Amino acid sequence: MELLKQRILRDGIVIMPNILRVDSFLNHQIDCSLYREIAKEFKERYKDTNINKILTIEASGIGIALATAFEFGDIPVVFAKKGTAKTTSTHLYTSKVHSFTKGIDYDAIVSKKYLNENDNILIIDDFLANGQAVLGMIDIVNQAKATVAGVGIVVEKGFQDGRKLIENQGYRVESLAIVDDFKDGTVILR
Ligand code: 5GP
Repeated sequence: MELLKQRILRDGIVIMPNILRVDSFLNHQIDCSLYREIAKEFKERYKDTNINKILTIEASGIGIALATAFEFGDIPVVFAKKGTAKTTSTHLYTSKVHSFTKGIDYDAIVSKKYLNENDNILIIDDFLANGQAVLGMIDIVNQAKATVAGVGIVVEKGFQDGRKLIENQGYRVESLAIVDDFKDGTVILR
């Protein structure tokens, strides 16, 4: 997606060794017109699927998922909460996730009320690195016996393992911008 790529090249900041900050337009301050274009692009790429719900994870995924849901005709957005499920609860789906940016483990948690076997789900997130957040969401969709129609990512870091791990499980991944490398503090896009 050209508009997004230009924005990353202009305003993205590389923090060593391999984190890209896009706070000025994607996940701290939000550029609403860019979000609208991102949403349209996800709609275009997944228009052949009959999704009825979007699943994302707090916090950065929520705005992107919401914008995308409008494009799909105001379908519901469910976001996994991050926390610690102290005991296995009968009314929650939980999946253990290792946070790439924080270096800690947390539980992704979704109430059983909001996912069921009739759901055809598009999973959305802002970044794909080692795939742990997305794999946690896939695990939750599978626990609910719902279907994963695909995964939509705004920025994929193509030099990390996320895509491989997700595709190896048989799921489709669409990324709107792929970072091939960070060289001397600059972003090399595919
Ligand atoms: P993964 O679970 O794929 O290893 O990492 C994806 C999650 O970590 C995303 O939800 C995102 O919040 C965060 N993340 C991973 N890499 C980056 C990055 O380079 N920049 C930012 N801003 N977030 C990242």
